[in-house]
Amino acid sequence: MTNRRDFLRNASLFTLGGLLAGKGSMASAATNAAPVINNAHAKKSFGLQIYSLGRELGEDVPGGLKKVAGMGYSYIELAGYRDGKIGQVSMADFKKMADDAGLVIRSTHVNPPVNAYNQSNKQQIMDFWKKTADDHAKIGVKLLIQPGQPSTRSVEETSFVGEIFNEAGKIAKAAGMSFGYHNHSGEFARVIPGGRESFVGRSIFGRNLPEGTEIIYDCMLRNTDPSLVFFETDVYWTVMGQQDPVEYMQKYKNRITVLHIKDKAVLGKSGMMNFEMIFKQAYENGIKDFFVELENVQNMSQFDGVKGCADYLNNASFVK
Ligand code: MG
Repeated sequence: MTNRRDFLRNASLFTLGGLLAGKGSMASAATNAAPVINNAHAKKSFGLQIYSLGRELGEDVPGGLKKVAGMGYSYIELAGYRDGKIGQVSMADFKKMADDAGLVIRSTHVNPPVNAYNQSNKQQIMDFWKKTADDHAKIGVKLLIQPGQPSTRSVEETSFVGEIFNEAGKIAKAAGMSFGYHNHSGEFARVIPGGRESFVGRSIFGRNLPEGTEIIYDCMLRNTDPSLVFFETDVYWTVMGQQDPVEYMQKYKNRITVLHIKDKAVLGKSGMMNFEMIFKQAYENGIKDFFVELENVQNMSQFDGVKGCADYLNNASFVK
């Protein structure tokens, strides 16, 4: 159905199409312009982290992916990788199902098998990343992202995590992928040199934290090589960590290159998130990967929640 806004958008594209078509009479320019209108009007560009659909997707993966595409999502980020499968489906079959639905698999979320990193389990972590990267490279996935926070109880431990991320980045690169890290709120706690615990939010007030105290996320950024590790900032969890995702995007323009677009539940409903400012800064930074993530849906199916998120983005004038 064409509403007034769509009509105006088409009308201006029509004019632009005519101008781009350039030579010839108005009539032929208009004819040339027709496919331009359709392509440009086709879709906004945003993706979905499939974790948002949880078990509901597992009930009918091919049908579910088609539904996702029908809502306006054009790419996805995988979750649930294990032993060469995504959930119960082989990687090759999953790729075919995504292709059939018209969805590009751009990214994947995978956690290594250990949480506390040290010299003695470093090789185990690297072997895991090698197999994981190779499995995903086979189906053309470009972004290999760790979504879970390893143990980071001190500046030193966090710096070592950075070293491990760099090594993972080398492995991903060799497989033709990029390695990234996705945050929750815990990364915005502070750690101290030689510490055994982290300090969250208001708990820092009134404390005499020593010199060298650092926000874990900043410490991770400082200890990773920009050519090997990118950051996928989850904007909701950043806010929950009492920090401003826009400020982080301004400060780390070339490091934060992918976003998780998330709210307390369905996008835009809580009033907690200033998505207009977030998208404005993201476009200014040249960010192209936006993965919607949904948790905590109540009184509705996950599919309905995911559709609600897509509707919000499709109706938001600030989303391209
Ligand atoms: Mg997230």
